[in-house]
Amino acid sequence: MNSSEWFTEQVPSTGTAFSLKIKQKLHEEQSDFQFLEIYETETFGNLMVIDGCTMVSTRDNFFYHEMISHPALYTHPNPKRVWIIGGGDCGTLREVLKHPAVEHAVQIDIDERVTRLAEIYFPELCESNNDPRADLKFIDGIKWVKDAAPNSVDIIIVDSTDPIGPAEGLFGEAFYRDCFHCLSENGILVQQSESALLHLKLIGEMRDAMSNAGLSHQQTLFFPQCLYPSGWWSATIASKAALSAFREQDCANKPFDTIYYNTDIHKASLAQPEFFKKAFPL
Ligand code: SAM
Repeated sequence: MNSSEWFTEQVPSTGTAFSLKIKQKLHEEQSDFQFLEIYETETFGNLMVIDGCTMVSTRDNFFYHEMISHPALYTHPNPKRVWIIGGGDCGTLREVLKHPAVEHAVQIDIDERVTRLAEIYFPELCESNNDPRADLKFIDGIKWVKDAAPNSVDIIIVDSTDPIGPAEGLFGEAFYRDCFHCLSENGILVQQSESALLHLKLIGEMRDAMSNAGLSHQQTLFFPQCLYPSGWWSATIASKAALSAFREQDCANKPFDTIYYNTDIHKASLAQPEFFKKAFPL
């Protein structure tokens, strides 16, 4: 097979790679922050790649966007104010705004070009960008949180690139301390936490940093994501106070459609594998 017909994300540190057959490259540019590419694939729709790493495909983004948003929103007792740090493709914003109780959702991505390209190549993810409750900011999420007032947000969703480059500080204790300060009493932080198979050490460091910052009540949830290394991804929820119970009845009666998420998936995603329980005993 001609290698130019495939996009391959190689991850030397884990000795893995993932490929998609492509029809054509639609766009590439160097933004002020990162190298952005868009491909049209044979079977996964459009694909966004940042600095050589797969970010979003038309076909499978629903796993990630639904699982990084709805479990946290149906765990918080009354989420009204939500911030999405990163998330420039706008798919998480769309899921958050499906919740009628949310009054204000701010997406804070460092790179406006990601959103402008998503508007062209992933218009379905951007369909809620003009919702009056949506607020799009293009600044560093680390600075946004540092400058925020205490008790100014109910849920912070960290939908970032991997912990290198501009996203590195989003996985550190100083950032979590700033999150602690601006979260409300029942506030929840939820962050994409990579693969439990390939990145267990990183998950441990992240959980320790969250605990040191006072976000010591934690749950890691798991979901499939074939685009990302190992095909098995996770998100970690952390809060100051003990996490509230899953609002199962509200979820069962959710007034919107999802493709993957429902009450059974919510509960199943929180089942902890044996090796994970051993690494992170309750
Ligand atoms: N779902 C994806 C994943 O896990 O690979 C993440 C997608 S989203 C496109 C990631 C976004 O994080 C990018 O648009 C990038 O610009 C943004 N980002 C990285 N570092 C950031 C920072 N310090 N503040 C705000 N946004 C940041």
